[in-house]
Amino acid sequence: MKSSVSLFAIALSACLVAGCATRSGDAVAEASPPPPADASAEPAGEPTAAEADAFIARAERELAEFSVISSRAQWVNATYITPDTDALAAHFGTIGTEMQVRLANEAARFQNAPGLSADTRRKLDILRASLTLPAPTTPGAAAELNRIATDLQSQYGRGRGTMNGETLTGNEIEARMGTVRNPAQLQEMWTSWNDNVGAPMRPQYARLVEIANEGARGLGYPDTGAMWRSNYDMSPEEFAALTERLWNEVKPLYEQIHCFARAGLNRRYGDAVQPATGPIRADLLGNLWAQEWGNIYDVVAPPSRGRPAYDLTQLLEREHYTPERVIRTAAGFFTSLGFAPLPQTFWERSMITQPRDREVVCHASAWDVDNVEDLRVKMCTRVNADDFVTAHHELGHNFYQRAYNRQPFLYLNSANDGFHEAIGDTIALSVTPEYLVQIGLLRQNQMPNEEQDRALLLRQALDKIAFLPFGLLVDRYRWGIFSGQITPDRYQAAWDEMRLQYQGIVPPVARTERNFDAGAKYHVPASVPYTRYFLARILQFQFYKAACDIAGWRGPLHRCSFYGNREVGRRLNEMLAMGASRPWPEALEAFTGSREMSAEPMVEYFRPLLGWLQEQNRGRRCGWS
Ligand SMILES: [Zn+2]
Repeated sequence: MKSSVSLFAIALSACLVAGCATRSGDAVAEASPPPPADASAEPAGEPTAAEADAFIARAERELAEFSVISSRAQWVNATYITPDTDALAAHFGTIGTEMQVRLANEAARFQNAPGLSADTRRKLDILRASLTLPAPTTPGAAAELNRIATDLQSQYGRGRGTMNGETLTGNEIEARMGTVRNPAQLQEMWTSWNDNVGAPMRPQYARLVEIANEGARGLGYPDTGAMWRSNYDMSPEEFAALTERLWNEVKPLYEQIHCFARAGLNRRYGDAVQPATGPIRADLLGNLWAQEWGNIYDVVAPPSRGRPAYDLTQLLEREHYTPERVIRTAAGFFTSLGFAPLPQTFWERSMITQPRDREVVCHASAWDVDNVEDLRVKMCTRVNADDFVTAHHELGHNFYQRAYNRQPFLYLNSANDGFHEAIGDTIALSVTPEYLVQIGLLRQNQMPNEEQDRALLLRQALDKIAFLPFGLLVDRYRWGIFSGQITPDRYQAAWDEMRLQYQGIVPPVARTERNFDAGAKYHVPASVPYTRYFLARILQFQFYKAACDIAGWRGPLHRCSFYGNREVGRRLNEMLAMGASRPWPEALEAFTGSREMSAEPMVEYFRPLLGWLQEQNRGRRCGWS
């Protein structure tokens, strides 16, 4: 995932990259709440609505004040890594977690107070559900949870695999899974990574689940999975049903891309490695987790046909773009819609290129340090197509952050956690040939023809559509574990079953209950909820389609550009400015006119490809059951 929403990653659940696990050294002592602000009230009695209002006001003040100094420490750490800045970041991280645990438990006390206003109830819910791993109040439990969570994350960070016996880091193995085409080497990398990283985590993960569930029950949830699902303005059951409906809308697309990719792999590797029917071998798809398949475009695309019409990297080089100009161009997309220009401090304080003399975190992210308009990006920008798209994505976060900056502290967030990523991706989808012509990078006579167009769509589909079942199953699996439906003695079997059921893939070698392959995916040991990425994939097309409709676009959806359209900007801003203040269906309605998430726009976007895929797949036995 390209970025984090780093606003106050420590204080609330917005952290997408760093772990949100409890780091508190001793949350137990912090967990018993101080007396309510209204001293005349009886602390042990039934809390009143007025006390709840006072608590929320106090919590928002405390969080707002803390988040600014904490963000500064995190920023300095991320842009200048030294033992000192590590210590500063950890110091504030610990304070933030302790604050969060204390406020969540306090919020839980007020949830049944009679006569709560809608706003107070909403803010209490936000506070109560803000932890991803709730620490229980039983003595020693929080410290143990913290130890396990930290240990799992560092085990992941230290994880190694091998190729031809040579030791590889996670980053190296990830890169090689995208480029190596030798099945024996792929199998070695896949197996060594899953065996070395996932398997040893198994007992600790089971213990983490036990403790977090106890914490979730203390906050009034049946289990941790239900707590994660309660962040969507509906019951946990309704939310699970919603994701099921969305998945069914896109499943026909997935089945076609699966069928097409399998045929390409069979052609390349032969029946012994990849049979023409049944599931796909997980290590052949160009990704360590088989979650996005764009890396095997060259393997599965029809040979020597439909090459892309232009190379965006070459266009940028031809026009002598610099990293700063890449960012300025992306910012220009938003100002063309009518958004105010970024403040001068953005250009003074952002990190736009990789410094030559110090260690930094290059992973791109977007920040709002003061929660008002101290916006920044942190990117080791290179002048190429990938970073051009990433720049548009990151600035989507920044403009969202500024649009909601008048909201109270607890509403300084996207409508639900899928929205923030989706906005950035919507803008990234808008980097179409039409847009490139409008900003003078592409000449009118270089527009792709139909076949070249399909090449672009196929490349997109291999990433975006292939991701959907994976985006869904990572949390379905964890929901099952948290609810007790999946018991520790079936951790591996249940994972393999879901990978087969949803993705139609199988491990390259036999697995047993000594394995724990789920642990070899970062977000599992780091306990970062994953459904947001599934939602963002669907939502970005819904937003994109809404913008194109408002702009009156005629023509295939994937070619639309709404660059320069003020009405799109006005309507988009209505949704963004709401932040998290209203249930997400209202925010969605403000921009798209609909209160329902729908995958139909995604299906429409890929429709020109779908017909072609069905033609290619004619005569093949698609599916894998
Ligand atoms: Zn992002």
